[in-house]
Amino acid sequence: MPFSVKLITPFQTVAEHDDAEFVFANGVEGDIGILPGHAPLFATLRTGEVQVHVGGNTERFAVSGGFMEAGPASVTIMVETAEHGADIDIDRAHSARKRAEERLANKTDDADIARAEAALTRAINRIHIVQGEA
Ligand code: ATP
Repeated sequence: MPFSVKLITPFQTVAEHDDAEFVFANGVEGDIGILPGHAPLFATLRTGEVQVHVGGNTERFAVSGGFMEAGPASVTIMVETAEHGADIDIDRAHSARKRAEERLANKTDDADIARAEAALTRAINRIHIVQGEA
């Protein structure tokens, strides 16, 4: 029995299917794979990849920080940002990576370092998704 899956950000529904076969995500505490009939689960996600396997195809998304709620017949993934691999602007991601690396090389205060590290992680994640390496 396939299940429904919804990938949402505060601004839009990025993906919605009624017939998913498998969902994969990077949980803070480890990778998560959801098959039909999964036990109820609530997990925090790290910046990484979400895969939705549907109709024999795999849709890949870059996501940053959020949550996954799963039950036997549905999965909801709520994240700050999500882009389908095909929608990622690779030049923008490379620029963001360069900017973050420069900030880290010229360290100022702790808050800036944490922000730059998070931006670097998002940029590298987007680059990896485009390159099919995440
Ligand atoms: P940038 O510095 O390039 O804005 P960022 O990591 O700070 O990168 P986010 O705050 O994570 O950007 O995202 C802001 C919005 O821009 C979100 O809607 C996100 O989906 C989108 N976005 C960010 N980077 C890219 C990209 N390389 N390609 C497509 N969409 C992107």
